[in-house]
Amino acid sequence: MITLKKDCIFCKIINKEINSEIIFEDEKIIVFKDIYPRAPIHWLIVPKKHIETHMQLTDEDKEIMGHLHLVTKKVAEQNNINHYKLIMNCGYEAGQRVFHIHLHLLSGNIFGEA
Ligand code: 5GP
Ligand code: ZN
Repeated sequence: MITLKKDCIFCKIINKEINSEIIFEDEKIIVFKDIYPRAPIHWLIVPKKHIETHMQLTDEDKEIMGHLHLVTKKVAEQNNINHYKLIMNCGYEAGQRVFHIHLHLLSGNIFGEA
């Protein structure tokens, strides 16, 4: 069972209380377009389980985090994205603004950047 957090924007997206452009979804993961894209392709890969940040991962999350990466690979492949950057901001001072763990997938004209 997925535990959704009431005041979390990504939980609301998962729960379809807020609209998003969904690229892929299964029982454990959702992939949708970032609302403020910083690259021609900018998607967010989000586990449906509400985990606030990387520092809160536990052994219980091994499977979901492995699945997150395999879904990322699969959606990239299915959309002919052959070069991409994956970013996870971990903590406020590292730029995290939504405290529901997620991976950014960026592709397009971004490869000169860090
Ligand atoms: P963070 O800074 O936490 O790593 O990334 C959060 C991302 O979520 C940002 O890139 C931001 O543009 C995106 N975002 C914030 N609110 C929404 C929303 O309501 N819908 C969508 N699709 N993206 C959002
Ligand atoms: Zn959440």
